[in-house]
Amino acid sequence: MTDITRRDFFKLTGVAAAGLFLSNIVEAASKPAAVQVPSTAMDFRSAKIDKNVIRIRNGAGDLMYLIEGKNKAALIDTGLGIGDLKGYVEKLTNKPLIVLITHGHVDHASGTAQFDEVYMNKKDDTLFREHTAMANRQGYTGATNPEWAKGLTSANYQPADDPSRFKYLKEGMNFDLGGVNLDIYDFPGHTQGMTAILFRENKSLLVGDAMNSFTFLWSGETLGLASYEKSVRHAKKATEGKFDKMYCSHGGGDLTIDYFDRMLEDIAIIKSGKDDAVDFEFMGQKSKIAFAVRPGDFARTDGGIGNIVYDPKRINE
Ligand SMILES: [Zn+2]
Repeated sequence: MTDITRRDFFKLTGVAAAGLFLSNIVEAASKPAAVQVPSTAMDFRSAKIDKNVIRIRNGAGDLMYLIEGKNKAALIDTGLGIGDLKGYVEKLTNKPLIVLITHGHVDHASGTAQFDEVYMNKKDDTLFREHTAMANRQGYTGATNPEWAKGLTSANYQPADDPSRFKYLKEGMNFDLGGVNLDIYDFPGHTQGMTAILFRENKSLLVGDAMNSFTFLWSGETLGLASYEKSVRHAKKATEGKFDKMYCSHGGGDLTIDYFDRMLEDIAIIKSGKDDAVDFEFMGQKSKIAFAVRPGDFARTDGGIGNIVYDPKRINE
């Protein structure tokens, strides 16, 4: 790509560049003992976005959600595993916590070691091991936030975790937090185990990275475009009429409620060969950004919202 550096692109999307910084080391540690990590290592911020829903942002801009019922609270995603997320969350709620992981990427799943009860789709186990390994997290942080990474030592990182201790998430599951229900939907595409979560009574649908302003669909763990389209159609149908707010896990966090249709429109344009197909290459792997963006604010030059980064060889897959 011409106008956007790789680092800008990461900052913009906040999306883990799967496979990019992977170390060959897969840390298969059993659940590590909790460690004291200085809270200043990661600057967490939060805002109440609904009566019982808090959006938490880490210093790298990754979004997490905390939803509270009468009996329990659920933390959705755990960021990069830098700093004391658990200590921060315990200031926001005193309810017993469960942790749900939307998908196994480094910027969502790396902080699980602090928490006892963790759920994730089993299909992301291998990805989780690769992405949340210490060397990969350090590489990712160094590439996306080099200045901040310089000030971190290994003591700032929570230990890597072993997903074999997790409980598994799959479509049809429900978590009753006490008058507040979370309904689980499979939404594969960005990763094989990507999960969407409906906050039933809040009428809010969290899609994680399944759809966002730069939906990444080109690396090894993603589906091809045709399979992703099926997945979008499935998730749209399964959640129809059940939400009037839609959240994602990067950027500002709010998506328009017609985002399924926006994505289907964009997919159709890609399939017809009429998208801008802007070259984007790194680590020797070529992909395309569907719609040209302006340098600076990365808004689509055609005024549209949303974008897809895809592998041109996998359009019909
Ligand atoms: Zn992701």
